[in-house]
Amino acid sequence: MPGRGHARRHAVKPQRDSQEHIKYVIAGVFVLVTLLVLGSALFHSADSNGARVASTHASGEGKEEDAAPRGEGPVFQGEYEGLDIGDLPPGAPLTQESSNTFTIVGHPGERVGQGTKNKYTYVVEVEDTIKPDNIGGFDAFAAMVDATLSNPKSWIADPEISFQHVKEEDLPAGQEPDFRFQLTTMKTTHDVCGNSYNLETSCFMPTGHRVVINEARWLRGAQPYQGDLGGYRQYVINHEVGHGVGYAAHQPCVKNGGLAPVMMQQTLSLSNDELHNINSQEVYKKDGMTCVANPWPYPQGKKTQEDSAANGNRSD
Ligand SMILES: [Zn+2]
Repeated sequence: MPGRGHARRHAVKPQRDSQEHIKYVIAGVFVLVTLLVLGSALFHSADSNGARVASTHASGEGKEEDAAPRGEGPVFQGEYEGLDIGDLPPGAPLTQESSNTFTIVGHPGERVGQGTKNKYTYVVEVEDTIKPDNIGGFDAFAAMVDATLSNPKSWIADPEISFQHVKEEDLPAGQEPDFRFQLTTMKTTHDVCGNSYNLETSCFMPTGHRVVINEARWLRGAQPYQGDLGGYRQYVINHEVGHGVGYAAHQPCVKNGGLAPVMMQQTLSLSNDELHNINSQEVYKKDGMTCVANPWPYPQGKKTQEDSAANGNRSD
């Protein structure tokens, strides 16, 4: 270190002229000040780290103190008390009045997915009697449709498929969008989809290219999703659009404890036995198999042989 060298020379040769002496003193002071400043800076940064840790710790403790008087948090028992299989969970109020007329919502965007064989276009609509406040704003519904379809685990993992949220007026004259995602009141859903199970469901209606999403399920979800409303919404979009991209048939659970195929009727149950009991004409056998809720056609973000089997046969 140069500072030490200067200091040693100063000590060994104390009799040098006073001018040089002063020079050494100034240099020494300069080095000392520099060291002090550096040292203090180092100490400061260590201190501020320490302070950050301390304050985080303190605020954590504060939270615990705040929470303490409330006792333990609510514990979800994994079942909605008193509900039968397929019943609608309690929750948000549902729109009673229906119109079967719709308003376009959301924002057109870029094409998602690489597929050029099936380039689907879509618009998003909400039934006119549904109030925006009841569903967290119209754009929230459209944004969930967009986010789900653009997720790499959705249908676009199939290299043939892509989607684009379009403005209907921009389509060539006389051309309809391939899908109309419609958030629909319970009553209109029954009118359009039928209500043969007497359980709330959604559906895909080829006539009019309608992906009819039942407001009752959108707001309240379904028992198999155990309160995971976001996951349920992704499921219902993927399932109904799955019918629209050519997967006409439902799929049973194929591996006990495995992820449910997206084309399984997960709104009603994750158990083949229970689904068989609801409709014995469906694809489900009484084989004791129960799956885990899964909103995605391609949970690994790419199309594998296994996924193709789980999603069933595509007929388009
Ligand atoms: Zn279905």
